[in-house]
Amino acid sequence: MRNIILFGAPGAGKGTQAAFLSERYDLVQLSTGEMLRSAIDRGLEIGKEAQTYMSRGELVPDSMVIGLIQEVLERRTDAKGFIFDGFPRTVAQAEQLDALLDRLEEPIQAVLMLEVPAQELKNRLIKRAELENRVDDQDPSVVENRLAVYERATRPVADYYEALGKLHRIDGVGDFQQVTERLVRVMESL
Ligand code: AMP
Repeated sequence: MRNIILFGAPGAGKGTQAAFLSERYDLVQLSTGEMLRSAIDRGLEIGKEAQTYMSRGELVPDSMVIGLIQEVLERRTDAKGFIFDGFPRTVAQAEQLDALLDRLEEPIQAVLMLEVPAQELKNRLIKRAELENRVDDQDPSVVENRLAVYERATRPVADYYEALGKLHRIDGVGDFQQVTERLVRVMESL
């Protein structure tokens, strides 16, 4: 089994690149953001609870996303591996993920961190707001808050995996193809 985390700030390109990598390496893509949006669309209780945090650009409670992840890990025993996208977003989530994977004896192999300068992230999120109808991209103050939350709560996750020798930094600036090639180069070197 091959378990990979695609890490980076909002707007770094995690979702599109994770979709590509999941196809290329036959991994199950696990996007907590997508799972939460789908729960909202389906009118589920967990979606209702998550929505208040998401619309403000805040993180939903750790227990909520861990529960979603645990359910899929337990259900998809057929998977050749997982690519986590937008998760873990706090050190507590990373620790709990590691505990879950340790139990399966399938630890995280690598964390691929897409690095994009702050101004470029803002430009991309503004553009995405025009293309997709995501409530958390529409309001500039919510976008600012998501980037601040990333710096405060999520960036320390990179340090956590760096200390474990699992972090790979990848330049996330360029077109889709260029970034893909950089990611594939790292994947092939693992
Ligand atoms: P994303 O699509 O990954 O940008 O996620 C959209 C929103 O969902 C985030 O701004 C958070 O409110 C929530 N969310 C997604 N993943 C997580 C996570 N791992 N931990 C906490 N909140 C999350």
